Amino acid sequence: MKRRHLLSAVAGLLGSAALMPALAADKPLAFTRLSKTKAQWKALLPPETYQVMFEEGTEAPFTSALNKEKREGTFICYACNLPLFDSNTKYDSGTGWPSFFTTKAKVFDTKTDHLLMMARTEYHCARCGGHHGHVFEDGPKPTGLRYCNNGVALKFVPTGSALPALRV
Ligand SMILES: [Zn+2]
Repeated sequence: MKRRHLLSAVAGLLGSAALMPALAADKPLAFTRLSKTKAQWKALLPPETYQVMFEEGTEAPFTSALNKEKREGTFICYACNLPLFDSNTKYDSGTGWPSFFTTKAKVFDTKTDHLLMMARTEYHCARCGGHHGHVFEDGPKPTGLRYCNNGVALKFVPTGSALPALRV
C-alpha cells in the first residue's frame, strides 16, 4: 500500500468511527478474508461488476433492477456472497441507487476518498475487499445513515431461497 493510501485509510477509519457503530464491536470476524488479485476477480465477474467493485467505478443511477426490489430477503456481495444487508433495512432514497440505513455487523471496512474533490466515506466488503458504495449522514431513523450501494455489487436472495456458499 502506498503511503498516501495508508494515511487516507487511517483517516477514514478515524473519521468514520462514529458513523460505523457496527464496526466498533470487538468480536472477531466470522470469516476469512480473501486475497484474490484483480486479474482473478476480472476473470470471475461481469465487466460492469468488476469495474465498480475493483476499479472503484460507479454505476449510472436508476439503472439497477434492485432499486425496485421490495421482497423480503438478503442482499449479498456479488463477488464473494457474504450477506451484507437485510431487506428490512432498505429504503427508497430517491437517488437511483439501492439504499440502506444499516448493514449486517462487521461486514464492511471503510476509507475516506476524495474522488469528487470532497471527502466521502467509501465502504468495501470486509471479506473480498470489493468496493460497494459510500455512506452519508442523511439517512432515515433510527441510524440517520444512508448506505448508497451500487446495484451491480449486490445479489438479492429472497427469503425461502438458500443463500449461496461463500466464494473461496
Ligand atoms: Zn465480498
